[in-house]
Amino acid sequence: MIDNNNLITIKNLVKHFDVKTNLFSRVKNNLKAVNNISFDIKKGETLGIVGESGCGKSTTGKLLLNLLEPTSGEVLFEGKNIYSISNEELRKLRKNMQIIFQDPFASLNPRMKIFDLIKEPLKIHKIGTKENRIKKVKEIIKIVGLDEYHLNKYPHEFSGGQRQRICIARAIILNPKFIICDEAVSALDVSIQSQIINLLKDLQKDFNLTYMFISHDISVVKHVSNRIAVMYLGQIVELAETNDLFKNPKHPYTKALLSAIPIPNPEIKRKKIILKGDVPSPMNLPKGCNFHTRCPYKNEICTTKEPIFKNAGNGHFISCHLNN
Ligand code: SF4
Repeated sequence: MIDNNNLITIKNLVKHFDVKTNLFSRVKNNLKAVNNISFDIKKGETLGIVGESGCGKSTTGKLLLNLLEPTSGEVLFEGKNIYSISNEELRKLRKNMQIIFQDPFASLNPRMKIFDLIKEPLKIHKIGTKENRIKKVKEIIKIVGLDEYHLNKYPHEFSGGQRQRICIARAIILNPKFIICDEAVSALDVSIQSQIINLLKDLQKDFNLTYMFISHDISVVKHVSNRIAVMYLGQIVELAETNDLFKNPKHPYTKALLSAIPIPNPEIKRKKIILKGDVPSPMNLPKGCNFHTRCPYKNEICTTKEPIFKNAGNGHFISCHLNN
């Protein structure tokens, strides 16, 4: 049954890559980047996705936009599976799904003026007359906190924060419903980070946007997200409302992540949970629970049986035998 409150429904999504063992070898290994994940993104919310680098966050983002083909599984956007629609439907859908990357400089063609860069999505989707497009670009540049005179400049003439504003302008000019922010503020100074986060929050209200906010930094994710999904080795291990997750983390990995956040008050001491051992290779995942090689609470069942990702109440999902 389709829940009308959901903009996106992800069902049993899997993405494995074949990777050559070495340059001359024909033998391929299977890199399990995303491993059977299922979750919803509600209309108008910001869902944060957090986890260490290489845990599958960005691959999940690309799968949701159909920039990668999944190994198996479904992504429903407003009830339609984005992997089985026609090219024409996909082209229309692309207007509604945008992405903002970490490195704005790499996302912007250095030879194009800002006016042309912001106008480009309208041109690609054949939207508006020449006059309409000029008017729209002039409106959008102001909405993202820049001025009309900036339109005549090139990307290298801007700071990192200003370039990210330009990328945001390109993302919202098509009036999308959904935007993925993939480490969108990670490369910026802390003061600029909060300006861009505030801009994204304002735009969410004004344009009725739904966000998926991907970051390795859980304290940044906390500031923007209504709910947070914690990823580890291609799986979601915990998903809950932001306040609930911070007050009542249930998965040992989430507990370790939260214990590492510095507290700005020197009088409050928190015991940091140091995880022993390295993250296993996604080409050679451990049996049972993926986290058992580092988990301080593991017991026998953890090394043989994979825990099920299930609702522990009030939409707090967790994948751990301690709660199964
Ligand atoms: Fe730790 Fe076992 Fe829970 Fe995995 S299932 S997180 S190993 S307690």
